[in-house]
Parts: sequence; structure tokens; C-alpha cells
Amino acid sequence: MIAFDDARRRVLAAAGVIEAQRIPVSASMGRIVAEDVFSPEHLPSFDNTAMDGFALATGGQAVPEGTELVVSSALAAGEAAPAGCEGACEIMTGAPMPDGLDAVIPVENVAVLEHDVDRRPQRIRVLQAVLPGANVRRRGQDISVDDLVILCGTRIGAPERMVLAALGIADIPVRKLPVAALLTTGRELVDDPGQALLPGQIRNSNGPFLADRLLECGAELRIRQSLPDEAGAYTAAVRRCLTAGVELIISTGAVSMGRYDFIPDALRELDAEILFHKVAMRPGKPLLFARLPGGALYFGLPGNPVSSAVGMRFFVEPALRACLGLPQESPLRVPLAEAVEKKPGFRMLQKAVLQCDDQGRLSATVMKGQESFRIRPLLQSNAWAVLPEQGAILPAGTLVDLYGLSGNGIVLNTCGVANAG
Ligand code: AMP
Ligand code: MG
Repeated sequence: MIAFDDARRRVLAAAGVIEAQRIPVSASMGRIVAEDVFSPEHLPSFDNTAMDGFALATGGQAVPEGTELVVSSALAAGEAAPAGCEGACEIMTGAPMPDGLDAVIPVENVAVLEHDVDRRPQRIRVLQAVLPGANVRRRGQDISVDDLVILCGTRIGAPERMVLAALGIADIPVRKLPVAALLTTGRELVDDPGQALLPGQIRNSNGPFLADRLLECGAELRIRQSLPDEAGAYTAAVRRCLTAGVELIISTGAVSMGRYDFIPDALRELDAEILFHKVAMRPGKPLLFARLPGGALYFGLPGNPVSSAVGMRFFVEPALRACLGLPQESPLRVPLAEAVEKKPGFRMLQKAVLQCDDQGRLSATVMKGQESFRIRPLLQSNAWAVLPEQGAILPAGTLVDLYGLSGNGIVLNTCGVANAG
């Protein structure tokens, strides 16, 4: 049995950054940018008006209230600016600034003194002084050519897509998807939700959970298979994964001390290098980590659902981050709201609720019902509390590390409770 930190170090040391590929921005949602992205264009790309109103020339000085101007032209968004303009130009939000005009007075700050037959303003009076540059969005004011806009290692989301679209960037380099396989072991498992359970059978709940988490964490799930507790079927499945180009194999079950816990021996038969088996943590102690011939990484998660969730969250996810060139997460440090009893000598990964009081103070409550077969607390918690090996009782106020239920950033949920995402 090895220490939690040591086990995590071995995982990170084994997980190398995978190569990059260029893909269309339209297909890049959720992907990890593999190089810094610099702007090829100015944004805005031309000086334009921020308001509906009248463009005018200030000559570098405030145009005083009461000034009267002739309106010589009109300009809508999408039209090209005329070369020159006498007096004022009636202008709509987003239209380019006509040459020589340098400020815009909003329509609500003028009195229209004369209209033509089409009700177009012909002459206006300025009701409020206009400063040079007022209400003009300047070329490059938001983003200039060659600005660094998206950092290498960013996950592409809607805001990145907006910026890439605004700058006319059609494709970008991203990390390839790590190719994963998920093998769930156990003759008791039933995959079809429509199938009635026979005596002794249970439904496969780890499979859908881990498949979703793998996809969320940026992996491609190429193979997903349920297996009986039988070494022959298992080794055939692992070989199939390797032939299919799988880089990470995640299995559940069959790594503990029972008679049917055949995976460690089967892996040795496959000439895998077992990098550790059993970690001083609760739940999830029987976790196994190995490297297969050819370099694929193998995570043997225990079958109990919370044990497999812990193995995914604290071992597989960090490995995927490393493969994708993402920095490792930093936990929040938050005081415990209530004292917690724990087993000395084990790192404890506990479902917790992170809360914020009306003074803005964060605290964490470790939930009741931490047994590794109980999955309902996963619905009621919003974070993982990580309790140190030392000590049997952690008094209220002890600072503990808090990780989100998943590793994709800290989100505030609708109850006003921080979900350390
Ligand atoms: P094992 O690690 O194979 O000894 O399994 C430990 C416990 O987890 C047993 O009660 C199994 O029935 C249960 N279990 C194993 N695999 C799954 C699964 N895919 N979904 C739900 N429970 C499981
Ligand atoms: Mg089993």
C-alpha cells in the first residue's frame, strides 16, 4: 500500500502530454487549445458609433450646448462611410464613422429643428456638450492585431468561440482527444435498464457514470464493455483495446482481495507493469495503476460506486489533465463547519457541502453516509473534502482542501452555494 500523494505522483509521472491537431473552430467546443492564439485582426475593425445619433466634427474641443448643425447625410450599420461629410451625419449604432467626424451625440441629446419630406432630420441643435471621441468605438479598442487572445491550455467554451468568430479565425490547434476504454467487471451486473433483476443481480451504475465523466474530462471513449469475472474474457477485452489504439483503460471491480478479484494476476499475464496496487485512502483503497506493453495506462478502480468515483476524480482526471497539457487543480482551503471523525493513517475523500454564509464566509460540512456503496450523497453534495492522514478527529474550523465534484472550474449553483466545479 502506498501513500496517496506518492500514488498521484506516479500517475502524473506516467501521463505524458499528447500531440496537437488543427481542427475547425466550429467543431472545437470543449477542446483544449494547444498553442497561444494571437489576433489576426483589429476588433472593432473600423471606428464606428456606439449610439444611434449624429456624428460630428469637434475640431479637438467640446462642441457646446446650443450649437446648430446641418445634417447632410445618413448612415446605417453595414454601409460604407462616405468620403467626406458637411456638418453632421445621422448615424446608427455600428455604422462606420465618416472621415473627418470624430464624435457622436446620441439622438436623445438633440432637438431636430427641421425635417425633410421623408421625416429625415435636416437641421439639429445640440442639447448637451459633446466631447471629442464621445460615443465612438475605436478600431482595435477591444483587441488589436497580434494581441494574445487565448492562452495555450484554455478549454474552448462559448466565450472563446465568440472571440474566435469575431476575429475570423477558422481553425485552431487543439490537443488530440486521449482515447479511453471502459471495462466494467462483475457477473452480477445488468446493463439494460429495461431488464428485471434476477436474484443476486445489480444494475451497472459505474458504467454510465464513468463514461460521462470521461467525456466531460475531454477523453474519447472508444470501447465500453461489461465483462464477467473471468480472466479469459478480460484479457481478450484488454487486447482488443490495445489493438484499437486505446491509450487509457479504466476498469471497475475485481481489484480487491476476493476470490474473483482476478485483475492483478491477469495484468501480469499481459506483461503489464503494475506501478501501484492499493493506496492509503478511503474510499477506494484497492486502486491499481499499471502500464501495458506499448505504453497504455491502466486504472483498475474498485467496484464500489463511490470508490470508483474517487478513483476517477483523484487519479484518472489528473492523468487526463496531464495528457491534455492542463495544469493540475488547486483546491480551495475552507474551514470545517463541524468536527469530523476519521480513520487515522488514511487520506479520506469525503462528499461535502461547501456553503457561504450571509457574511460571505465559506465553510464545508462533511456529509453523513460516506460508505462506498451509497451513491445518493453524490446528489446532495457539491464538493469533495480531502482530509489528511493524521488525526482521528478534526475539530470545527480545521482548514481542509476542497475539490469540485468535477474538475472544470468553480461554479456557483442556484442555491447560492459554491460548487467547486
Ligand atoms: P468488486 O470491487 O468487484 O469487489 O465490487 C465491489 C462492490 O461493488 C460489489 O458490491 C459489486 O457488486 C459492486 N459493483 C461492482 N461493479 C459495479 C458497477 N459497475 N456498478 C455498480 N456496482 C458495482
Ligand atoms: Mg466484482
